[in-house]
Amino acid sequence: MNPILENDLQHMDSILEKTMQTALGVLNGLEERRVAVPPHHAQTVDLPETGLGFDVTLEQFMLRYAPFFSGSAGSRYLGFVTGGTTPAALAGDWLTSAFDQNPTSGLDSSAPDLERETIAMLCQFFGLPSDYDGVFVSGATMSNFVGLAMAREWIGQQHGYSVAQNGVQGTIPIFSGAAHSSTYKALSMLGLGRNQLQTVPCLPNREAIDVALLEERLAACAAPATVVANAGTVNTVDFDDLTAILELKKRYPFWLHVDAAFGGFAALSPRYQHLVTGLGAADSICIDAHKWLNVPYDAAMSFSLHPKLRLEVFQNSAVYLGMPTETPDFVHLTPENSRRLRALPAWFTLQAYGRSGYQEIVESCCDLATQLAARILSDARLVLLAEVRMNVVCFALKNEQNSKFLELLRQQGEVFMTPTALHGQAGIRAAFSNWRTTATDLERIWSAMQHCFNQMEAI
Ligand SMILES: *Cc1c(COP(=O)(O)O)cnc(C)c1O
Repeated sequence: MNPILENDLQHMDSILEKTMQTALGVLNGLEERRVAVPPHHAQTVDLPETGLGFDVTLEQFMLRYAPFFSGSAGSRYLGFVTGGTTPAALAGDWLTSAFDQNPTSGLDSSAPDLERETIAMLCQFFGLPSDYDGVFVSGATMSNFVGLAMAREWIGQQHGYSVAQNGVQGTIPIFSGAAHSSTYKALSMLGLGRNQLQTVPCLPNREAIDVALLEERLAACAAPATVVANAGTVNTVDFDDLTAILELKKRYPFWLHVDAAFGGFAALSPRYQHLVTGLGAADSICIDAHKWLNVPYDAAMSFSLHPKLRLEVFQNSAVYLGMPTETPDFVHLTPENSRRLRALPAWFTLQAYGRSGYQEIVESCCDLATQLAARILSDARLVLLAEVRMNVVCFALKNEQNSKFLELLRQQGEVFMTPTALHGQAGIRAAFSNWRTTATDLERIWSAMQHCFNQMEAI
């Protein structure tokens, strides 16, 4: 064994102890750490010929990169929909690496059983019937990719051919109201093309599809199609009327894929459940775990009612891997072959905090969004661009200096928000999805915003 490696092996205790102290330092320092850090282009170093060993490597990291990492795990990072990491999820993630399982096949470990158990628990969590199957993938983009790959296969089958075996032989019509950018990316990766998506207008001043117009499109299409419904859009957390869309299935043949990346968490609260009525009848569903489930990057789930189709698309036939059986190995069910046991952090956090723990996280994030919106409404310099349905506040500066304001916020490092455009109007979004965020944070966020206003007025 290489002597440096052997030395590290003998000092595993101290390596993990130092790592834990470092991690604790990061977590305990989140209150003070800048939420966003201006890009810092450190001078790059070359690959060492002789290794430095762990201790020096840690020193290098702490010196050259750690200070310039953002506080995205903390409570005032409101960009995108970036959840944090619960204590149990973090522990589960560490153990994922320690065990280093490959849940691809069931030949050597019960890790795949843990993934199946986690999926079953998540079905209960989201109120999905038990006949859904599911797999873990790296994020909602991949989950949309998987759902659309199955939709494509289904459409081929309706025409009597297999896309998996012979490729696409005809058109694959796809309709959506306010599809997330990742759906277009998935269509690009699937060889269908971004332009294949036909946008159906949304209801006036909404990001929810006009179901009457969708019906017209489906009638005109007169062929098996795919509808990508949106359950929680990123700007206004708007929801397509899933029940009304499902009604259309009685008259038109289509696959219903629902992008519920974070909106799926509406199912956790009696206050929001009605927004996802019908979710449990979709052909495929995308839900992220690294957003509101607050597990570390990267993890999402792909659920579907069509396990056979999943198998047809993702089957990886190789004798040494074993052929699909009654309970096919995950190697035959996901885009990846080898992959990380992403289910473990989710398993830990679900076991540790249960449904009610998450109901509280969801409701608390939504309450904070409502409180921020109330303050925005009370401030004459700001305008709310949309009603707050759940956890996202979409607003703008009346003087239209949104970019300047965001830049000042970023420089200040107290709170991170991201730019957006809604119905052609530039704006700002603040998304609450971290279990740590409290009313005290809201005070800090609001003071930071006031501070930036004062700075702008001084310029
Ligand atoms: C975040 C998000 C995605 C993409 O998710 P990733 O996890 O970043 O791949 C897709 N759809 C919606 C609605 C989202 O909010």
